[in-house]
Amino acid sequence: MPGKNVLIVYAHQEPKSMNGSLKNIAVDVLQKQGCSIIISDLYSMNFNAAATRNDITGELCNPQHFRYGTETMEAFKKGVLCEDILKEQEKVKVADLIIFQFPLYWYSFPAIMKGWIDRVFVQGFAFDFPGCYDTGLLKDKLALLSFTTGGTEEMFSKDGMSGDIRYVLWPMQHGIMHFCGFKVLAPQITYAPEYVGDEKRKNMLLLWARRLEAIWDERPIECTPPWYFQ
Ligand SMILES: Cc1cc2nc3c(=O)[nH]c(=O)nc-3n(C[C@H](O)[C@H](O)[C@H](O)COP(=O)(O)OP(=O)(O)OC[C@H]3O[C@@H](n4cnc5c(N)ncnc54)[C@H](O)[C@@H]3O)c2cc1C
Repeated sequence: MPGKNVLIVYAHQEPKSMNGSLKNIAVDVLQKQGCSIIISDLYSMNFNAAATRNDITGELCNPQHFRYGTETMEAFKKGVLCEDILKEQEKVKVADLIIFQFPLYWYSFPAIMKGWIDRVFVQGFAFDFPGCYDTGLLKDKLALLSFTTGGTEEMFSKDGMSGDIRYVLWPMQHGIMHFCGFKVLAPQITYAPEYVGDEKRKNMLLLWARRLEAIWDERPIECTPPWYFQ
């Protein structure tokens, strides 16, 4: 799709991993469509995941009692957030679609990616009050979580030992992406790639490629409690 900008926020330490292959396939397919792709390869960038005072380069509003949310909101308004956050926010600003590519860690994002979210999706930039959920400040953008798991699809079913995968998706898709206004595309879940044969893994990669070929025709999911809990 010429003219579309895609940001891939990618968290895996190993380029030869399944996550590395899923990321490479996204780049190939989307580039063939004429999209512009930017990749934030968080481990290669040695991205700092810790939300600290150092994220504000100017004077603090209240150095006696540091409040990360208030200070970063004010720093965003004054343009005094630190350089690495500003760079990532610029990438988000131009993106039509953000793909988060990661292995599921403890039912969630790996810490480095969660840290990217903590530090980049600052109040005033990604959300505000008012200005969250359907009116979130990133409401003109699409978000898609593409992740791998250790558990099988059966384990992540309603009666499986890990519980319905939609319970896991609720905080990530609803609590973060929808909160910031993103229209959320259905997740791409690649179950248990370590425990299947090579042929099956190739097929998983093929399914992702096929999906991406028609990604711009997809409609977002209804990011409301019934989608997750009924
Ligand atoms: C701290 C931590 C917490 C975790 N928490 C959870 C959890 O809560 N729930 C859960 O389910 N799991 C959890 N896991 C497991 C984790 O999600 C999986 O190990 C991970 O998703 C597997 O993906 P990978 O990319 O790392 O796999 P890899 O091991 O890198 O890849 C799997 C296989 O795919 C092969 N491969 C790569 N590219 C290709 C290709 N192009 N064609 C064919 N084969 C290819 C690789 O060679 C490898 O054999 C956790 C793991 C850790 C370390």
